[in-house]
Amino acid sequence: MFDLVKLTDKTYFFDIPTKIGVYKLDSKRVMLIDSGLNAKTAQRVLKVLDDEGLEVAFIVNTHSHTDHAGGNRYICETTGCKAYAPEVEDVLIEYSDVEATLVYGGFPCRDFRKKFMNTESCKTYRLSEAPLPEGMKIFPLYGHTAHMIGVKTPDDVYFVADAVNGKNTLDKAKICYVYDIDTQLDTLQKLKELDGKLCVPAHTDPTENIAYLAQINIDNLIEIRNDILGELKIKPQTTEELTASLCKKYGLKLDFMGLVMVTSSVRSHLVALRHSGKIEWYIEDYFHYWKIGEETE
Ligand SMILES: [Zn+2]
Repeated sequence: MFDLVKLTDKTYFFDIPTKIGVYKLDSKRVMLIDSGLNAKTAQRVLKVLDDEGLEVAFIVNTHSHTDHAGGNRYICETTGCKAYAPEVEDVLIEYSDVEATLVYGGFPCRDFRKKFMNTESCKTYRLSEAPLPEGMKIFPLYGHTAHMIGVKTPDDVYFVADAVNGKNTLDKAKICYVYDIDTQLDTLQKLKELDGKLCVPAHTDPTENIAYLAQINIDNLIEIRNDILGELKIKPQTTEELTASLCKKYGLKLDFMGLVMVTSSVRSHLVALRHSGKIEWYIEDYFHYWKIGEETE
């Protein structure tokens, strides 16, 4: 736990649940890709780097989720470095209330914010201002969140954040968080073109076979979409009823936060289906129902 794993001459990662990328800018300074869950994680990161004689020059956040940006404040305050994130994500890191509101769908209940959706506020600068080394490339991975990005290091390692989940996660969690389904599907298709390159997803092992991971994530989204259509062919349902139907079908075990996240992702699927004309909605007795579209029947 907390090993600093060497991938290439200059690129490393911390082998923890949210992989933190480390790129050596010179013999003393590193750039971090994400900062981990919280101050405790960040403290351990700084300790390991310090033992190696390394200090943090700056942080690049791939996106705003707490497990990727929760260590920003501790690292920035302790080292005096700056954190940079893509547009929208920078604001959400700075105002985690807004992030939680976005997923919760209104002023967020405190029970929803125990571990995640609770980033300690930290001034975060626009990624376009980051002093990236020559050859470091940023590429869009929109879908999981509005403006998530990936990072390609000059020595050809691709950090792809939460764009893909591993097979175990898909099997267990099934309905993983996605903000925009259609954009996520486009991102997954594009990721397949990186096949053969060394890719580091945040929540599964590094791989040179990203096409496989991208495809199982595509298949999973399509399966959920088809299951939603199957449920709505049986009878119209509200978002909550449909979420419950899917959770039972997949045998998911969810706490309060998990159910909110899954409901938010089901809503994203429903919006994508509505925008493609496959489903429609109606309101009856103040309940908002989804039903199969006339063309889909
Ligand atoms: Zn995420």
